[in-house]
Amino acid sequence: MPSYDYDLFVIGGGSGGVRAARISGGHGARVACAEEYRYGGTCVIRGCIPKKLLIYAAHFSHDFEDAAAYGWNVPEPTFDWSRLIAAKDKEIDRLNAIYERLLDGAGVKAYHGRATILDGNTIEVDGERVTAEKILIACGGTPSLPVLPGIEHAITSNEALNLTRLPERIVIVGGGYIAVEFANIFHGLGAKVTELYRGEQILRGFDDDVRNALAEEIAKQGIDLRVGVNVTAIEKRGEALVLSLTDGTTLECDEVMYATGRHPNTDGLGLDTVGVELAANGAIKVDDFSRTNVDNIFAIGDVTDRINLTPVAIMEGHAFADTVFGGAPRKPDHSDVASAVFSQPPIGTVGLTEPQARERHGEVDIYRARFRPLKHTLTGREETTLVKLIVEPESERVVGVHMMGADAPEIVQLAGVALKCNATKAQFDATVGIHPTSAEEFVTLREKVAPQQAVAAE
Ligand code: NDP
Repeated sequence: MPSYDYDLFVIGGGSGGVRAARISGGHGARVACAEEYRYGGTCVIRGCIPKKLLIYAAHFSHDFEDAAAYGWNVPEPTFDWSRLIAAKDKEIDRLNAIYERLLDGAGVKAYHGRATILDGNTIEVDGERVTAEKILIACGGTPSLPVLPGIEHAITSNEALNLTRLPERIVIVGGGYIAVEFANIFHGLGAKVTELYRGEQILRGFDDDVRNALAEEIAKQGIDLRVGVNVTAIEKRGEALVLSLTDGTTLECDEVMYATGRHPNTDGLGLDTVGVELAANGAIKVDDFSRTNVDNIFAIGDVTDRINLTPVAIMEGHAFADTVFGGAPRKPDHSDVASAVFSQPPIGTVGLTEPQARERHGEVDIYRARFRPLKHTLTGREETTLVKLIVEPESERVVGVHMMGADAPEIVQLAGVALKCNATKAQFDATVGIHPTSAEEFVTLREKVAPQQAVAAE
């Protein structure tokens, strides 16, 4: 048997790679990990965590407004972007250090540098060649920008989190998670926001009721949401940017942010040298156990483009470590993964959308309510909450739970447990609500609604 420097070399120190490295180390493997930027990866350094901190910041503008209705005298609030970014950066530094300590604690050798695969067992990192019996690729994804004149003037979510000043006018291009979340962040912090989406309705792939309801809420708040329109060119005129749009109009702004999807980070890794198979979009093809077509090379997380969410990458990394080094083979389970959009109000969703449920089960029962939450009876804010259950009538199982409203991600996380337990509508009904909450609506929905019926606020 050839002897290698390591049992496992992990390329990519994001949430998935670090989890796989740590758990493999815990199972007794000799592990090394390489990260070219900062340990923590997309989620910790330039994704979920800094984004959520900015979401909290943005939400205060509503809180200040709402407080007056509850008797508070709030002096005219002012906002300091650099103070927020500095506080956010400090927290990211702290988390980055924790990630490095976690690896150290698990006996994992952490390299700071870009790793390239030279052959099936040899990796070059930091000018050093090391060998490993197994290689795990966990190097994530990166923002995709379309090709159009002036695109070099655009920023992505990477830069948006580190701007030196808050733009007065920002245009966000895209209608996915990132576009919607950043539109809400910049709007909440006081920028004039225009969101441009090329399709008919934002958040393609989410349940239509939720998509439509959120689009209404966004517009009500004053975000200029325009659908069916795209950018054809970007021109810099002095300090401003002028966007030419497909509808023949132009739009002037201080920043334009593209949130037009992400692509797997597979370029220049040396995958062609070892013959690792890629899908058309550059994602690494893997089987249910995260194995590539090359025996000793595995891949997890966004680079495999399965479900591109941090907890999914962590699940895949943990399952890999238990399977390969823990003597307990198991596949990651990609069914009923809950997810959220941290918009204002946020969305939480788990299970099937209405069209998916119909496609899989034929006819389904829909239960739904849209209402003004108790808090806003005093504030007068026009914001509504939407809850929706999709039930497969034969087994009576709840197969989809969707919510738009305050705390939807917190609420739907636990609905995800119910779905994992194959909960039925009767079991939802038998659950006594907590009053007064919005979540109790999920256990008090009694009337089926007609399919595809528009959902107006009560
Ligand atoms: P998405 O793939 O979700 O959305 C991309 C958006 O850009 C779509 O609206 C798409 O339109 C549009 N688009 C694509 N190409 C173009 C183009 N050339 N011109 C104009 N518009 C275009 O990507 P995101 O970047 O929003 O997010 C990436 C991933 O990150 C998500 O899949 C998600 O898994 C993860 N994520 C999760 C979050 C969370 O859990 N809260 C938060 C942020 C990201 P169309 O619909 O027509 O294709």
